[in-house]
Amino acid sequence: MKRDAVKTLLDLVIGASFLTAIYSGCNAKSTSNLPTPIPKPTAVVHYEEQKPKLAFDTYIIDAGHGGKDHGATQLIGLDEKDLTLALATSLKAEIQNKSSSKVVLTRSDDSYISPKERAEIANRYAGKNAYFMSLHVNDINTWEKIFSSSAPSGAFVLYADKLDPFFHLGQTPFNRLQKTGRPILEELAKTGFRIQNGNGKKGFRPTGEVRGDDVYILESIDERLLPGIYELGFIGNSAEVNMLQNTEKIAQAIYKGLAKPQ
Ligand SMILES: [Zn+2]
Repeated sequence: MKRDAVKTLLDLVIGASFLTAIYSGCNAKSTSNLPTPIPKPTAVVHYEEQKPKLAFDTYIIDAGHGGKDHGATQLIGLDEKDLTLALATSLKAEIQNKSSSKVVLTRSDDSYISPKERAEIANRYAGKNAYFMSLHVNDINTWEKIFSSSAPSGAFVLYADKLDPFFHLGQTPFNRLQKTGRPILEELAKTGFRIQNGNGKKGFRPTGEVRGDDVYILESIDERLLPGIYELGFIGNSAEVNMLQNTEKIAQAIYKGLAKPQ
């Protein structure tokens, strides 16, 4: 049924109920027991179906770390695993509320999920028009902490590139990766994030810093899922952590990036 047709139907139902109300008002004594007609929920179902379609049918959102794996930690006791879970939960709500896409979380509580299990969960959706994004908050090593004069900052996306692990996103042969990561980072920049690249300019960082579990995730997840690791600022940077704790705002920014035409 077209929207106009539904609207007309709804108008008729509401009109009928309005007339009934007038009628019962005129005949208050004799008709006060008349039940008020309740419009059928046809319109609600209709508008649910009208939710915009994103580029992917399913988004697999991986909240980095969890359980015994705390990820990066701040001195005051804030853990990366808690920030990533809060962000993943908000992003799931945002995508499901605003679009017709489905969201799968690799974890929805503070439990430890091995990189192998994360890859297995993701790979079930390989070839089904799904996208995998792993959410993280970055850290620098102890020596960098001691010698750096200012808090590190910035967000970037890591992708596996089988040809060159030190690739620059702008040069990657995977066009769809650029289209997916770039709009998200551009929207995050509007919320105040600096977007890292190798030259300190707004852009994308060439990096060879992928290691450990990150390497496993990027190498083990089917490339049809275009796996990307989103490093959303640094845990040692209180301004960025403050921004990240407004999870709804960050989720809205990421959603806007996802919703941009592919
Ligand atoms: Zn991490």
